[in-house]
Amino acid sequence: MEQPKGPLDCLDCDGQGHIDCKTCQSCQGAGDAPEGVMDVYCEPCRGDGRKYGEPCPACEGTGFNRERLEEYRRALAKRVAAWQQ
Ligand SMILES: [Zn+2]
Ligand SMILES: [Zn+2]
Repeated sequence: MEQPKGPLDCLDCDGQGHIDCKTCQSCQGAGDAPEGVMDVYCEPCRGDGRKYGEPCPACEGTGFNRERLEEYRRALAKRVAAWQQ
């Protein structure tokens, strides 16, 4: 199987799909609800511990390296075409 030459993750956002990710100030990145609150997780960050910024323009928020993904898809399509012969 042909492997893509580089990582499939978008290099601009490390595969996060967002840029300017910040640690959630409400839970200091823990993702837990504050003490005394009945919520299971921190509401502002939905338990993630991070707040996401803008969708990454390089990958349009998908987190994938588009060029590499295309390369991968082409390799896959070639492979499928070979199977079907
Ligand atoms: Zn990206
Ligand atoms: Zn939080």
